[in-house]
Amino acid sequence: MTIRTRFAPSPTGYLHVGGARTALFSWLYAQKTKGQFVLRIEDTDAERSTEESVQAIFDGMQWLGLAHDEGPFFQTDRFPRYLDVIQQLLDQGDAYYCYCSTEEVEAVREQQRADKQKPRYNGKCRHRTDVDETVKPAVRFKNPEQGEVVFNDLVRGEISISNEELDDLIIARSDGTPTYNLTVVVDDLDMKMTHIIRGDDHINNTPRQINIMKALGAQVPHFAHVPMILGEDGARLSKRHGAVSVMQYLDDGYLPEALLNYLVRLGWSHGDQEIFSVGQMIDLFDIKDINRAASAFNTEKLLWINQQYIMASEPEKLVKLLANQLTELGCDVENGPDILEIVKTQQERAKTLKEMAEKSLLFYTDYEEFEEKAAKKNLKFAALEPLEMMLSKFEQLPDWSKEPLHQVILDTAEALDLKLGKVAQPLRVALTGTAVSPALDATLFLLGKDLCLKNILRATEYIKERIVAQQS
Ligand code: GLU
Repeated sequence: MTIRTRFAPSPTGYLHVGGARTALFSWLYAQKTKGQFVLRIEDTDAERSTEESVQAIFDGMQWLGLAHDEGPFFQTDRFPRYLDVIQQLLDQGDAYYCYCSTEEVEAVREQQRADKQKPRYNGKCRHRTDVDETVKPAVRFKNPEQGEVVFNDLVRGEISISNEELDDLIIARSDGTPTYNLTVVVDDLDMKMTHIIRGDDHINNTPRQINIMKALGAQVPHFAHVPMILGEDGARLSKRHGAVSVMQYLDDGYLPEALLNYLVRLGWSHGDQEIFSVGQMIDLFDIKDINRAASAFNTEKLLWINQQYIMASEPEKLVKLLANQLTELGCDVENGPDILEIVKTQQERAKTLKEMAEKSLLFYTDYEEFEEKAAKKNLKFAALEPLEMMLSKFEQLPDWSKEPLHQVILDTAEALDLKLGKVAQPLRVALTGTAVSPALDATLFLLGKDLCLKNILRATEYIKERIVAQQS
């Protein structure tokens, strides 16, 4: 038997990280078993579904590399098929027309609530045989009245629900449109799903869906309900907790492999291993190892994983991504320094590509003034001589590359019998205006000769002005 799994999002917003994790689990299981993964867009809710959301799903899936083997199928293309199945259920006596108005149904529910009963449809039309021509009826599924629905959830274990708990569900609204529980069943059967892996917010629908499947004479697939992702405060993860849209993570400078790695660990584990390549995930993943308990999204940990991936990346792979981030920040990357060199310089210094870009702004725009504290500490009289010596050595340097640049700093320290820091820190402040920067040889190289000479001169003048001010 070929394993078939699916991801079936409703296109009513961005692709949420929770959805992405469900998609990842379904995709991994299909990959692992050499099965197939289907993408289905559940767009029957015309009011809430949008084309942008469909695109956001495609973009997110593509960015994460979760390719589907079949689809995308759109439920709105399949209405005739749903109507056929509804007719089939009517014909075989497993569904009936319901003429009750919304107000009537609501009034019954109100009463039930007042009587401390579970609100449910009272079955008024279940045995009705006459036809009311004046009312457009809905269609309800005739849920079995006795017995129970038992299924072995691959995450939660055996679940059983008494049919008495389940009322007769609307499968077609009075305007003729099919409802979620009907469309999902028809699709899962037609698309020959063997394993339905989805969020446990759907667990209450499962017994109803199983009953419809059984009425259609189908073999019931396996179900695996994955716990929700929570925010750090224990509430269900939402925008309130920060970024929840997959594409936001691209904008924020995350690598897709890092997000996948974080998501797979959120709710699944393999010993205490933290870093998994996609290949390892495929080898090691199993539904039975999905945690039963909900897990909380931890941005710090995601950042840490992203940093591990940035450090381990081939620098060439990060060039385009960093260039995009720099462009976002307004840098003219075409006419700027070599980005590969920036990546190599910054790779160990940033948790995200966005942070890397922010830390690289100095290579694109000169600073306006010295940071006060840095200047006060480092641009003192004692720094004048080493700065002037380096200025003249740099002026004469025929080869503006990292090694000779580094040598100038060493030679200056040696010639003046100074500790390296006494030479390097003033130079750093001179070049960048601050006391923190990447390695000096790389900074000199990336800033280019003209700017470096200009800024060292600027620092020496600053020191002289300071001395004059102190004397007067
Ligand atoms: N379309 C449903 C949702 O986005 C998922 C349905 C399912 O996985 O069965 O919540």
